[in-house]
Amino acid sequence: MKNSDNPFRNLPAVHEVLLLPAIAALAERHDHDSIVEAIRVELSELRARLAVGQTLNGEAAEGTIAANVAERLSNDLRPRLCSVINATGIVLHTNLGRAPIAESAAKAAYEAARGYLNLELDLDTGKRSSRQDPIRAWVARLTGAESATVVNNNAAATVIALRALCQGREVIVSRGQLIEIGGSFRIPEIMGVSGAILREVGATNITRLSDYEKAINPQTAALLQVHTSNYRISGFTASVTTEELVALGKKHRLPVIDDIGSGALLDFSRFGFAAEPIARSSIAAGADLVLFSGDKLLGGPQAGILAGKKEYIQRIEKDPLMRAFRCDKMTLAALEATLRIYLNEEIALREIPVLRLLGLPLHELQSLAEELATRLRANTALASVATAEDVAYVGGGSLPDQQMKTWVVEVKPRDLGDADFAHRLRVGTPAVMARVRAGVVVFDVRTVFPEQIDGLQDAVHLATASEPEA
Ligand SMILES: *Cc1c(COP(=O)(O)O)cnc(C)c1O
Repeated sequence: MKNSDNPFRNLPAVHEVLLLPAIAALAERHDHDSIVEAIRVELSELRARLAVGQTLNGEAAEGTIAANVAERLSNDLRPRLCSVINATGIVLHTNLGRAPIAESAAKAAYEAARGYLNLELDLDTGKRSSRQDPIRAWVARLTGAESATVVNNNAAATVIALRALCQGREVIVSRGQLIEIGGSFRIPEIMGVSGAILREVGATNITRLSDYEKAINPQTAALLQVHTSNYRISGFTASVTTEELVALGKKHRLPVIDDIGSGALLDFSRFGFAAEPIARSSIAAGADLVLFSGDKLLGGPQAGILAGKKEYIQRIEKDPLMRAFRCDKMTLAALEATLRIYLNEEIALREIPVLRLLGLPLHELQSLAEELATRLRANTALASVATAEDVAYVGGGSLPDQQMKTWVVEVKPRDLGDADFAHRLRVGTPAVMARVRAGVVVFDVRTVFPEQIDGLQDAVHLATASEPEA
């Protein structure tokens, strides 16, 4: 330690800090330039504090500087992606990665990632095969479609389908279905990208079969139906059924493309949700091509599945964009595992997390909420902890007007505002995302896995500790 009347002089130089054993040890994990930079930043912050007349009580000591530099570097190398406890109750939370996938699907992705697999190899013949073959087989079996293929997401599925089948020609679509899905996925813009020409028919609330029929001309390439996944038109409305559209398409030899959005493979009315289009029903109604997401109600990895007539799937697979849109091995492995679970509906309801969470009975949610509340009541930094019945949404652009009953724990800390508390929860370890409402932070237990209750309790403890612990 130097000793001078000038406190600036008491600060060590960068090269002196570099020689400290604690700093030298950092070279095992960090490169020299990053270490030098961290020391510079630390020293310049200390200098800035001296410049405004602050005294440095022991913070100019070499040991403290070394410790702070080490902490700076480890913060800097911290992963930016981390697991989050989802206490929002929103099952398909787009900002939290949409669907959590099944255990067997996650394992399949892990095995695919860390080793080699027969991605494009027919093990029987030893010849090259298509990476689409396994998914094709399972989707065909589950939906009744002749064939299927898969791309990175449903937006890509829409682009490639319209491009391969309708480029430079017209696609007829109802005005009431020109939707925007979150993240500015707009049907008219997607059609623009694909090179297909949009031909809007009908009015926002009413589109009749005759509106489609009148718009058909020699330039027409397809009839498109888009499920209005994230909003509902109510009141004085009329729309055309898939069957009617298919009959019209047959009459004029035009394919019907049905973008059903969420990828329901089973009937969601069992969860009390009004008719969500089911892939198999759309195929049975005669749609030539059905498009849906892998990571919405299907509950698998992010993907866009195209199921339908073989001739259309073949044309889509020949499109040059297929090379740009194809899925990687981890996605394909996880998707195959997810689809296999659906072969047995009972098992799907148990093992697909999205289905399990949507199906949680209210009394189970209530006991989970009470269990969490009991644990949180032991925390003396909380002014109040109460359980209540509440409502939540499915999220992810699915079932917009369908509320679900749920149970929540409402928490109010003594010395922290709701926004501060929620912020501390988000940046803590484990990170927790909760709802904030009129002075209370609300934990909806529907989306908290039972094995996360301990972590949630710890996170609340850390967030309410007077000095948040590191
Ligand atoms: C969500 C959705 C899309 C976009 O799907 P992503 O998988 O998010 O790309 C397209 N169409 C409909 C009807 C949707 O609901």
